[in-house]
Amino acid sequence: MAPLSSFTEEAASLDSQHPCNSTLFTFPTFESMGLPIDEEKKKSSSSKVNYLCGNSLGLMPASTPQAINNELKAWADRAVESHFRHRGEPEGLTPWLNIDLPVVPLLAPIVGAKDTEVACMGTLTMNLNSLMCSFYKPTKTRYKILFEKGAFPSDYYAFLNQAKLHGFDEDALIQVETRPDEYSLRTEDIIDVLQKNADSIAIVCFPGIQYYSGQLFDIETITKIGHEIGAVVGWDLAHAVGNVDLKLHDWNVDFAAWCSYKYLNSGPGGIGGIFVHEKHTKISNDGSDWKPRLAGWWGNDANERFKMLEEFKPIESALAFRQSNPSVLDVVSLKSSLEIFEQCGGLPKLRPRAIMLTSFLEKLLKSSKYYKSLEESKTTTTPHFIILTPEIESQRGSQLSVMFKPHYESKEENIMERISSYLNQHGTICDERRPDVVRLAPTALYNTFSDCLECVILLEEAFEKL
Ligand SMILES: *Cc1c(COP(=O)(O)O)cnc(C)c1O
Repeated sequence: MAPLSSFTEEAASLDSQHPCNSTLFTFPTFESMGLPIDEEKKKSSSSKVNYLCGNSLGLMPASTPQAINNELKAWADRAVESHFRHRGEPEGLTPWLNIDLPVVPLLAPIVGAKDTEVACMGTLTMNLNSLMCSFYKPTKTRYKILFEKGAFPSDYYAFLNQAKLHGFDEDALIQVETRPDEYSLRTEDIIDVLQKNADSIAIVCFPGIQYYSGQLFDIETITKIGHEIGAVVGWDLAHAVGNVDLKLHDWNVDFAAWCSYKYLNSGPGGIGGIFVHEKHTKISNDGSDWKPRLAGWWGNDANERFKMLEEFKPIESALAFRQSNPSVLDVVSLKSSLEIFEQCGGLPKLRPRAIMLTSFLEKLLKSSKYYKSLEESKTTTTPHFIILTPEIESQRGSQLSVMFKPHYESKEENIMERISSYLNQHGTICDERRPDVVRLAPTALYNTFSDCLECVILLEEAFEKL
C-alpha cells in the first residue's frame, strides 16, 4: 500500500485542475476556534480549519453579513415602509412583502422543479408535518406510513404523531430495515415491502440521502413503485438538497421538504423549503376546489391578501402552502448562498466535482493501513475502520461515514471519540455520531483535494497514537 504522503502531488494537481470556490466563504480559523497552533501553521498565510462538516452546518458565505445588514439598515431607516418601499440601496433590493420571491427561481433548479413547484418557508420538521397534513389521508384499510428503520428521530416523531392524530398507533408505521451486516437499504427490499403491503400503505417518505450512512436513494424508482401501489410519495431532502442532482418534477415526486443550513449554507436554523408537484396545486376554474392544507394568509392570492377577506384563494403554486410572512433575515441569508450556487454553475458543475472529491477521499481512506473492508472487519480484532457509505457513486453524495472498531463503551477508550477529538484538535472539523461513527463531508463548493488528504493523514496519526 502506498504511504499517504505519496498522494501530496496528486492532491495538489487535482486542486489546480479543479479549483474550488473557498474564497466565497468564511472559514473558522485555529484562532477563532481556540485550537492550538503549531509553528508550521503559524508560518503559513492561512490558519483556516479544514472544514468537512458542511453536511451538518454549511459555512457562511462571505456575502451574507452584507445581505443581512442591508435589511437591518432598511428596518432602521424605514421600518414598516420597507414592506412596500425598500430603501432601494444598494439597487434592486426586494420589498419585504415579496422578499422570498427572488429565491424561488434560484431554488427550483437545485431540486429540479418548475418555479411554481417550490417555496422557501418554515423549517424542515414543521414543513414535513404541514405537508403530511395535506398528503396523508388514511382510510380504515389504507393508513400505513412507509419509511426506514433508523430514520432521523425528528422524522420518526413526526410520522408516529401523524398516525396518532388520525387515531392510529405504532401499527401504522412500516420501517424497512437493512439486511444483517449491511448498512444501506437495497432498493429491491424497499420495492418488496411496497408490493407486499400494496393495499395498506397510504404514504411513503424516505430521505433522499440517509443522514447516518450517506446512502443516496433511488428516488425515481421508489416514487414510481409507490405510485403503482396507490400510495403518495414524499421525500425528506435534508442531506440531498444542494448536494446531489435532483429532478423532482420529472420523477413525479408528490412532495418534498428540506432544511437549508446543511449543504445550502443558509445559516443555523435557516429557512427551509418545500416542493409540491404542480399536479397538486391546480385549482378548478371557479377557484373553489383546492387541496386542503395548513393554510395562512401568505398562501392567499397576493392581490387579495391585504383586503382581509374571508375568502381563501390559494396561489396556483407551492407558494400557496406558505402560512406566514417569512423571516426577512433568514430569506436573504439563504439567497446569498443560492446566488453562489448559480454563479458557480449549479449542481451540473458542482456534482461532478463532488464525485471526484468523494472518490479521492475514499481512495485515501482505503489506502490507510487501518482501513478494513466489511468482510475483513469481521475477523479483525485490532483497532481499524470501515466505510459504511455505498461504494457506487450514484448511491452517495458528498459524505463518507466511517465506523471505528472494535467498540469500547467508555468515553476514554472509545476509538471514535479519541480519533474524532484528535482530528478536531488538529483543525479537521468533522462530526461524530455516537457511538462509533464519524461523518466526513468534502463539499464541492469549498473543500479541496488537499483537505481530504490532510484529514486522512491526521486519521492515521490518531490511530498511531491510540
Ligand atoms: C437535519 C435533519 C432534520 C432537522 O430538522 P429541523 O426541523 O430542521 O430541526 C430533520 N430530519 C433529517 C433527516 C435531517 O437530516
